[in-house]
Amino acid sequence: MSDRGKPPPTEGFSTHVVHADRRRGVEFGGVHTPIHTSVQYGFERVEDLIGVFQGTLKGGFNYARQGTPTTAALEAKLNQMEQGVGSICFATGMAGLCAIFLTLLKAGDHLVASRFVFGNTNSFLLTLADLGVEVSLVDVTQADQVAQALRPHTRMVFVETLANPGTQIPDLEAIGALCQQKGLLYVVDNTVLSPFGFRPAEVGAGLVVHSLSKIIGGHGDALGGVVTDTGRFDWSNYPNIFPAYRQGNPQAWGLQQIRKKGLRDMGGTLSSQAAHQIAVGAETLALRMARTSATAMALAEFLAQHPAVAKVHYPGLASHPQHATAKKWFHGFSWMLSFELKDEANCLTVCNRLQLPLKATGLADTRTLIIPVAHTIFWEAGPETRRSMGIADSLIRVSVGLEDAVDLQADFAQALK
Ligand SMILES: *Cc1c(COP(=O)(O)O)cnc(C)c1O
Repeated sequence: MSDRGKPPPTEGFSTHVVHADRRRGVEFGGVHTPIHTSVQYGFERVEDLIGVFQGTLKGGFNYARQGTPTTAALEAKLNQMEQGVGSICFATGMAGLCAIFLTLLKAGDHLVASRFVFGNTNSFLLTLADLGVEVSLVDVTQADQVAQALRPHTRMVFVETLANPGTQIPDLEAIGALCQQKGLLYVVDNTVLSPFGFRPAEVGAGLVVHSLSKIIGGHGDALGGVVTDTGRFDWSNYPNIFPAYRQGNPQAWGLQQIRKKGLRDMGGTLSSQAAHQIAVGAETLALRMARTSATAMALAEFLAQHPAVAKVHYPGLASHPQHATAKKWFHGFSWMLSFELKDEANCLTVCNRLQLPLKATGLADTRTLIIPVAHTIFWEAGPETRRSMGIADSLIRVSVGLEDAVDLQADFAQALK
């Protein structure tokens, strides 16, 4: 039997997603949520305007920097996927991540983060260190490394579920237990797996982040990000919540602060146009995840037995160091893999010989994308950092698209010959 990881998420994952818009009541019976372009939202009675400002009129809008009916519909859809207590959309995944780090950490706090993170996240963590937040980068595949890095002023632990490009997987469950025991906020970037592949709440994550620009939107035509509160973290003891947001149910405090400080004040707002494109794309998430995971598995198996290939990084392979974790927690092993060549000198030639994949950065388009990462994304990081992140000079990242597996395989076969 082919190894596909754990069974699908909740029954009805796609059913919920495709009907989410209609539950909110769309004008004129429109099947999809309209694109609301108004910047201002006006009221007949000033009391209602006041109610929106003071948060007593639920579901109201005042100025589009804090959201529109279109972005709110997408937030509801994504929140349903993660089964969270609330979600906030942002202009990009980076805007969502920055909102978390900048609104929930202060100078003097300590953050433990994975050493294996998205390049721009890694770069932002350096900025955060410049602002006075102590940052420890650790090998999160070992939970004891996280435990050893903790200090009295540690506030947050940050990991990615499946690291790009090396596909390292943190010890998700043990880190979750550690955070729970120490009262730390556990933040998980789940971009590569998506809520279809994994729900970080299951391992105790308090906040989940996704770049919507990748597999959730899925068509490479819109940027976006989302932060979801899973309800697992007790905000009542978190010292960095401003007095203004210590109001009402403590479960809402974290997101209140992220929306006001991170979205309203910092302004990384998702446009309604992009929200609409992402919402339509998200309806086929389950289909695209199943398809691209199966293709990626076939390609990984093909590459793993090829004589020109030194190493394949893909969690679906039994040889992957965290295969057991992936099998236990992930549904499918995702659309991202990377491989190293035996002869490093052939790296660019192999890329150029490939006919179907586009030589492009970015991930999870409908088309397969390849990139030699040491020469591009991790060039600025330098050789030492690359080595510490496990990035070989011949490493080629593959973001598997919707092409037929046989065609992709044939193309890789001719390119590697
Ligand atoms: C792409 C990506 C981001 C950033 O998302 P953008 O929407 O491009 O800003 C963050 N984390 C991971 C894991 C990503 O792949």
